[in-house]
Amino acid sequence: MKKYEQKPLRYAVDALEPHMQKCTIEFHYGKHHAAYIANLNAALEKAPEFEAPECPARLVHHLHHVPEAIRTAVRNNGGGHFNHSFFWKCLTPNGQGAPVGELAKAIDRDFGSFDAFREKFEAAAMSHFGAGWAWLILKKDGKLAVCSTPNQDCPLMPESVVPGIEHGRPILALDLWEHSFYLQYQNRKADYIKSFWKLVDWEQAEKVYQKALAHRLAKAEGKKDGCCCSQEKQGCMI
Ligand code: MN
Repeated sequence: MKKYEQKPLRYAVDALEPHMQKCTIEFHYGKHHAAYIANLNAALEKAPEFEAPECPARLVHHLHHVPEAIRTAVRNNGGGHFNHSFFWKCLTPNGQGAPVGELAKAIDRDFGSFDAFREKFEAAAMSHFGAGWAWLILKKDGKLAVCSTPNQDCPLMPESVVPGIEHGRPILALDLWEHSFYLQYQNRKADYIKSFWKLVDWEQAEKVYQKALAHRLAKAEGKKDGCCCSQEKQGCMI
């Protein structure tokens, strides 16, 4: 059985300062994210008959295939592994400040402007009660949307297991758990959310968006492609 592993960060632990401090990354990546992976692997060991897919995106997208006895553990910890892996790739020390390429055009088309999108995303993040995530997603209808999910739930998860959230393919994610900001920002969640814009890797978001568009096209043409990385290994969203 495949054990999930933590990929190295693409930047040094202090590279996102001052917006995200070294101590936050050390705990968040080194302890919290690592614990989700350890707990995920432990859960999977209890169901050796289940062949877990290599990619955590596929695992959470096909949560309905996971044996019921471990499904909640995989939802929480597989979600935690995918969400964090995706989140780290949303960030860069060289934030471009604004969207680029086709994603920039789609944001203008679906939200009116980048500013209007940002307001909507911040509002979704601020108003989310308790632990969870804020997302920019591409919905099945081809439109972008902003949403939030509780705990480690993720828009990729199937409706049949995780109803009551918006479903779609993640383009951008922001962790709203207190562990992601409390060491640096304490109760100033709004400041943490604002700091996110300094760190967003919009070039990466454009790649993820292009991949989501290609995936949607493949589906429309009736090609079997249930995962972010089944078309090509390169360019997997995490
Ligand atoms: Mn987190």
